[in-house]
Amino acid sequence: MKRIGTNRESAIRTLESNAPRILPGAAIGVLGGGQLGRMMALAGRNMGYRFVTLDPTPNAPCGQAADQQITAPYDDMEAARKLAELSDVITYEFENVDADVTAMLMKESYVPQGSELLYTTQHRLREKRAVEAAGIAVTPYSPIHSVEKLEREAERLGWPCVLKTATGGYDGKGQRVLRDPSELAEAYAELAAEGTELVLEKFIPFTKEISVIAARSAGGEIAVFPPAENIHRENILHVSIVPARISREIVEEAQRMAVRIAEALNVVGLIAVEMFLTAEGKLYVNELAPRPHNSGHYTMEACRTSQFEQHIRAICNLPLTSTELLTPVVMVNVLGEHLEPLMAWLAAGGEAELEREYGITAKVHLYGKAEAKPKRKMGHVNLLTPDVERALVWIERSTIWS
Ligand code: AMP
Repeated sequence: MKRIGTNRESAIRTLESNAPRILPGAAIGVLGGGQLGRMMALAGRNMGYRFVTLDPTPNAPCGQAADQQITAPYDDMEAARKLAELSDVITYEFENVDADVTAMLMKESYVPQGSELLYTTQHRLREKRAVEAAGIAVTPYSPIHSVEKLEREAERLGWPCVLKTATGGYDGKGQRVLRDPSELAEAYAELAAEGTELVLEKFIPFTKEISVIAARSAGGEIAVFPPAENIHRENILHVSIVPARISREIVEEAQRMAVRIAEALNVVGLIAVEMFLTAEGKLYVNELAPRPHNSGHYTMEACRTSQFEQHIRAICNLPLTSTELLTPVVMVNVLGEHLEPLMAWLAAGGEAELEREYGITAKVHLYGKAEAKPKRKMGHVNLLTPDVERALVWIERSTIWS
């Protein structure tokens, strides 16, 4: 294994391949025009790439940062064909890409990420089986097709347990925590009505939730970022803390697991691996995302290479560069309800006071979304800080997130 950078957390390894190297000047097509596409385009345009995005919302976050937006539904074949025509390489910023669209794009353009990883990660059961097949522990689970099976499996896995839809869930949607047998029938009826398969999981009494992002290039080179410790509020990511407050052994084990998954699933681009850590020091994989991830936004200023730049490097088969952490950092999300107090804080010169009194530099990222609805992700702030506790104290004291 070749290591780049001085940080032990930054491990990069190289393999040989015939994948083309796509140089700056080429056009990158992004399926999906949300904030992840926007930050990809901002990073890639700095490097000299051109961007075209496809999204149904006019002037979408990525459209604002790209050279061109095609405004059409994600499953519009003609629009996707136009994206293929305009692009030298195609990527996506969300995993629920229509299978027919992917197949057509693979035929008419270059999609280094392929379709298999999307197919696997679109469905919780397929994803869990793939992770298990790679020799990595997932939360104990069972496929559920009837209330009778749900009753049996809930007793077997033990209470509480978590019933989830196999497809389409995000930010806690499409799932219910079940505490006793009286809740089963209603929960089953509610989630089965969404028309997808269901999965029952053992409830893991985790002490921490962490995530690790690994990048694998079209040529097979792998780089892994430092783990983030994630704290959710109402099932939506609130803060990511890096370095995570976990032991060196857990850091290394979590990174080993992410690298193993990237290899076993033939990832090209990024794979974000969400994990639960128990009091006994055991790690279970909860979920994968084959794209840049909210818990990796801290890399934008805190690492030598951001997750977005690394993703562009990976799909274009440029060498992956150092993931070394340059400073402790806390990333805090800005949801719709936080936007007004954040703007008031900016207007009052809050950033200067934060540097003066706490020694923390705030890097504010806003996504250019037209409307600030409650719980909608509008932006995030990376707090570059002498130590993570100090940034957490400031977040608690500030009126923006109260
Ligand atoms: P998910 O959509 O699977 O990422 O779940 C959203 C959040 O629900 C997770 O980040 C956890 O906080 C919680 N959660 C999901 N599954 C479990 C589980 N099996 N045990 C404990 N907590 C869970």
